[in-house]
Amino acid sequence: MSTKKHDSMESMTCKDFRKMIDAFDKKQLDIDTMSRFVEHVSGCLDCQEEYEIYYIMKYALSDDEIMDKEIASQPIPVQRLVNSYDFKALVTYRLREAASKLDKIKRNDYYNRCLFAIAQFCVVLMAVFYIFSNVFM
Ligand SMILES: [Zn+2]
Repeated sequence: MSTKKHDSMESMTCKDFRKMIDAFDKKQLDIDTMSRFVEHVSGCLDCQEEYEIYYIMKYALSDDEIMDKEIASQPIPVQRLVNSYDFKALVTYRLREAASKLDKIKRNDYYNRCLFAIAQFCVVLMAVFYIFSNVFM
């Protein structure tokens, strides 16, 4: 059992990365971990290869029946890549998909903060206006 704590700012090691490939592929990682996962693999060729091997093991070397079922549950572009055994492209596809999801979340967060600031400003403006109109009318 490990007592090591993961700080959110701590970058991921190759060992951690490899342990998380399966969870990433199954979309089980939380946003913060997913962000560090994508960040790590985009700068680590060894892990890109490792990730590709994960798909080779999963799709090329596994039981046909289980594999067919698994492939059928995937979106069309993924099915196409798996069927053509283009696992390198599949890795790229998955990472791009995750990066755009993270980007969307970050942008939403930014918009939400802007909206909140505008709402706060309106409340202050209304309060000022209310006080002003009570004093002078
Ligand atoms: Zn690595």
